Amino acid sequence: MPRSKRLLLLSHCLLNANAKVEGIEPYEGAFKPLILPLIEAGFGLIQLPCPELRHGGMRRWGQVKTQYDTPFYRAHCKTLLEPFVLEILEYQRCGYEVCGCIGVDGSPSCGVHRTCKGDWGGEIDESFCLESCLESLREENEAGVMIASLQALLAEHGITLPFWAINEKSPHEEVATLLKELS
Ligand code: SF4
Repeated sequence: MPRSKRLLLLSHCLLNANAKVEGIEPYEGAFKPLILPLIEAGFGLIQLPCPELRHGGMRRWGQVKTQYDTPFYRAHCKTLLEPFVLEILEYQRCGYEVCGCIGVDGSPSCGVHRTCKGDWGGEIDESFCLESCLESLREENEAGVMIASLQALLAEHGITLPFWAINEKSPHEEVATLLKELS
């Protein structure tokens, strides 16, 4: 059977939920309602690295974009992404189609349309107020740090890709629409 020559970039945890902050359990391992149809449709799947796992490890706290949006973390994302952008260029040079990228809305790193912000940070001691910290949490209509870095790198190389996202809190919501757009 000939190869499809069609590829998709995916946020890491769509293929491996184990990378998520502990306590976020949207599915067991790979997000089957999305991944199985993509495999059936013949897409080659390129798993992007999880920038948060490679930054804070498995015992990291859940954080917001307000905390991650620093020159250091942006540079970290850029370093992780550069080889993938070169891969895309090489696939395109050889006649393969990189059809787009699927991220995770709500994530401070991998959100495409939505990310989370808040007045978080500082020492957790007796003066720490969890309630006001949680009250400051809000979703904003912008990309997370990793996706924004990817979009900037792609633009630098003259690459245009469509971006979609699964909703981190209710991942099943957008699957049907997304699969329809990709078919
Ligand atoms: S959304 Fe991005 S940063 Fe968060 S766990 Fe998934 S791959 Fe890692």
